Amino acid sequence: MKNIFEVLQDVEHIGITGHIRPDGDCIGSIMSLYNYIVDNMPELDVDVYAQRVPENFRYIKNIDKVIVDYPDVDKVYDVMICLDSSDLERIGEADKYFKSAKKTVCIDHHISNDSYADICHVLPNASSTCEVLFDLFEEDKISKSVAEALYTGVIHDTGVFKHSNTSKHTLEVAGCLINKGVAFSKIIDESFYQKTFLQNQILGKCLLNASMTLGNKVIYSYIDLKTMEENKAMPSDLDGVIDQLRITEGIEVAILLHETSEGIYKISMRSNNDVNVSEIAMTYGGGGHIKAAGCSAQGDIHTIIEDLVDKISKQL
Ligand code: AMP
Ligand code: MN
Ligand code: MN
Repeated sequence: MKNIFEVLQDVEHIGITGHIRPDGDCIGSIMSLYNYIVDNMPELDVDVYAQRVPENFRYIKNIDKVIVDYPDVDKVYDVMICLDSSDLERIGEADKYFKSAKKTVCIDHHISNDSYADICHVLPNASSTCEVLFDLFEEDKISKSVAEALYTGVIHDTGVFKHSNTSKHTLEVAGCLINKGVAFSKIIDESFYQKTFLQNQILGKCLLNASMTLGNKVIYSYIDLKTMEENKAMPSDLDGVIDQLRITEGIEVAILLHETSEGIYKISMRSNNDVNVSEIAMTYGGGGHIKAAGCSAQGDIHTIIEDLVDKISKQL
């Protein structure tokens, strides 16, 4: 695919969705595509879905148009476009719109993407789905609001141009977006660095729960269901915790286990150097990127950690 208009020919009803537990690239990509279509093809009918919208993305134009929680609609979309999700399971309950759609499209950058749509446009070397989308948009048709949503996705998936997925092209894309007048300092502070008091408290708890192993090359921590519930914390309140673990001196791999329901853990992994954490996540049915991956696991937390550490040690 060279231009997003290729999949918008002869369609009237368009559905857009991202992945469950949406992050900045997910929200940035669904909203930039939504706003791009509304700006340039106002005659089309577009619905945009997400499981929820984290508070720190409220500055994105039309964010109030996001239909949350995947309600039952008996609408058949001419095309359903899924962004930033590597597999059908990750789109959660939005798969009901996907199954009934006449045509399905997936735009993504995950190395583990399993080509689940009719048309798949996956660039594993791109920093973010927003970077992939930028190249499918015509630059003169990108408004400031589309640019702000794209910029959001790029800074979130690159950790503000810090992760190894940041390329010359990523910075060129960011440069074009800055030329569109995006309030880049404000977006970086408000959506990325700013934490609520609760988020800082949860971060503190995770840091206190952390342990090191494998000659201090692996750091792992956890947060249990009870602590999350007592503090009324949302999964998005854990954003950034894994990065704080990862920047511990001498660490090769950081692991965070978040108990989402009793005995079920959402696992995040980050690698600083050579360990391929996507490969390890895939042994649990998850995936992601070489240096940032995730999966879910059920069972005894110590057994899970032991198994992950064992797989890391084999790679080291
Ligand atoms: P996270 O640790 O949730 O920030 O995820 C890190 C990376 O791994 C992201 O690119 C996710 O899209 C991907 N990822 C996380 N969980 C899963 C999963 N269960 N299946 C596939 N990919 C995942
Ligand atoms: Mn994502
Ligand atoms: Mn992404």
